[in-house]
Amino acid sequence: MPPLHTRLTPAARTFLAAAALLTVLVPVLPLGLWRDALATSLSVACVVAMAVGVARHRPRRPLAWWLVTAGVACWVAGDVVWFVQVWVLDTDPFPSPADVCYLAAYVLLAAGCWQFVRARRGGRDREGLVDSAIVTVGFCLLSWTFLMRPTLAAVDESVLARVLGTAYPLGDVLLLAFLVRLLTTNGGRSTAFRLLVAGTVTMLGADCAYQLVSLDSDDGGAVLTALWVVSYLFFAAAALHPSMRSLTDAEPPAGWAFTRGRLAALTVASLLSPGTLLVQLALGLHLETWAVALSSVVLFLLVVLRMSGLVRHLQEQAGKLAALARSDALTGLPNRRTSDAELERMRERAGCDGTPLSLAMLDLDHFKAFNDTFGHQAGDRLLVETGAAWRTVLTASTGGDAVLARWGGEEFVVLLPGRDAASARAAVQALRPATPAGQTFSAGVAQWDGREDPGALVSRADAALYAAKTAGRDRVLLADEGEGAGEREAAGHRAGSRGEPAQPVG
Ligand code: GH3
Ligand code: MG
Ligand code: MG
Repeated sequence: MPPLHTRLTPAARTFLAAAALLTVLVPVLPLGLWRDALATSLSVACVVAMAVGVARHRPRRPLAWWLVTAGVACWVAGDVVWFVQVWVLDTDPFPSPADVCYLAAYVLLAAGCWQFVRARRGGRDREGLVDSAIVTVGFCLLSWTFLMRPTLAAVDESVLARVLGTAYPLGDVLLLAFLVRLLTTNGGRSTAFRLLVAGTVTMLGADCAYQLVSLDSDDGGAVLTALWVVSYLFFAAAALHPSMRSLTDAEPPAGWAFTRGRLAALTVASLLSPGTLLVQLALGLHLETWAVALSSVVLFLLVVLRMSGLVRHLQEQAGKLAALARSDALTGLPNRRTSDAELERMRERAGCDGTPLSLAMLDLDHFKAFNDTFGHQAGDRLLVETGAAWRTVLTASTGGDAVLARWGGEEFVVLLPGRDAASARAAVQALRPATPAGQTFSAGVAQWDGREDPGALVSRADAALYAAKTAGRDRVLLADEGEGAGEREAAGHRAGSRGEPAQPVG
C-alpha cells in the first residue's frame, strides 16, 4: 500500500466521486436548462478544485499548473457565457464572447503544456521535437481535411462564423502539438501526469467530435457535454493528486530510444497522408491533393531528419562499443584481443620489410601476496599505475611504436616492432625502475624468427618468463637463453623478489 502522502486526501476523493456520479446524470437528463445547469456547475466546481489542488500542493514550478488551471477556467468561463446566452438572454451563442474564452483557453493550455515540457525535458531533445512534429503534421492534415476546409467552405455561414469555426480546429492542432511534445519528454509517468494527459485528450476528443457534429447540426449532444465535464474532472483529479508536485521534475531525454508506443504513433502519423488520400479515393470524396502532397513532403523530410539522428546515435554508440571491446576495463590499456590483432599486423609488416620484431611477456612478482596484504583495491590501483607508468616509459623509448597490452590478471605483453631480442630486452629493462611502489616483475623476451605463428612466439616468450620466475624473479630473460643467464639488478633484492609485498600505491 503506498504511503498516505502519495494518495488523494479523503476530501478530494469524496469530491471527485460525487462529481463523477453527478456527471453520469448529464447524458441521462433530457436536453434543457437543468442538464446544462448541472454540467456548468460541475465544470465550475472542477476549476475551483484545481485551484485548491495547486494552492495546497505547492508544486515546484507553479507557473505550469496555474497556466493549465487558467486554461481550464477560461474554457469553463466560455461554458458559463454560453449557458447565460442560451438560457438567460436567449441569444445565439455563436459567434459570441464565449468564443474569446474558448480560444484563449487553447493558448493558455498550450502555454501550460510548454512549461511542463521545458521543466521536464532536462536537456536538448531534438528527437522529441521531431517526433511531436511528425504527429502534429499528420493530425493537421486530418483537421484541415475534415474540419477546417468544410468550415471555411460553409457558404451559409457569416465570414466571422467561418473564421471562428476554423480557429477551433487550429486551436486543437496547437494543443495537440504541445500535448505530444509533453508525451515525448522522459520525465516520470506519475498519476498526476496520466490524469493531466487524460484530461487534455478527452478535451481534444470532445472538441473535435463537437466540431465534426456541428458541421451538420447545432446540438453538440448530451454525451459530448458529459465528455467535457469528464475532461474537467481529470484536470481536477490531476491537480488534487499529490504526485502533481513532481510533474515538472527533469529527466535527461532518451529520444534515440524507441519505445513500441512511440514507434506505433510515428508509424500511424506518417501513414495519415496516404491514408487520407486512399479514404477519399475509396469513398469518392473531394480529393485534398495539395494538402496531402504538402503534408507528405513535410512528413518525409521529418522522418529523414529523425532517421539521420538515429543513425548518428548508432554510429556514436558503435564507436564507443568498439573502443570498449579493444581496451581493458581496469587499466584502459589495449586488451589481449587488440594485442593479438596488433601482433598479426606487425608480423605481416616485419615479414614484408624484413625488419625484426620482438615480444615480451611481463608478470608482476608475488602479486597475490600484495593483494593479500594491502587488499584487492590497492592491487587494482597498482595494476592501473603500473600500466600508466610503463606506457609512458615505452612511448618515450620507442617513439610510440611499441604496444603495451594487458594480457590478463597481472600479466602484460609488449610488442616491439623494429627491435631484435637484445634491444627489446633493454626496452623492458627500462621499465623496472619505473614500476610503482617498489614492485618487481619478471619478463621473457622472444624475437620472431620470421616464420613461426603468433602462438609459437608467445609460447617462447612465456617459457622465458617461466625461466625468469624459477631463476628467482625480478629479471628479464631472453627466450632460449640458458637458466641463470638472466640479469639481476645490482642493487640487491627488492621487496617483491623476496616474496614480500611491495608498498601499497595511492
Ligand atoms: P608470481 O610471482 O609467481 O607471479 O606470483 P603471483 O602471486 O604474482 O602469481 P599468482 O598467479 O599466484 O597470483 C596472481 C594474483 O593476481 C592472484 C590474483 O588475485 C591477482 N590478480 C589477478 N587479476 C587481478 C586484478 O585484476 N586485480 C587484482 N587486485 N588482483 C588480480
Ligand atoms: Mg601470473
Ligand atoms: Mg605474478
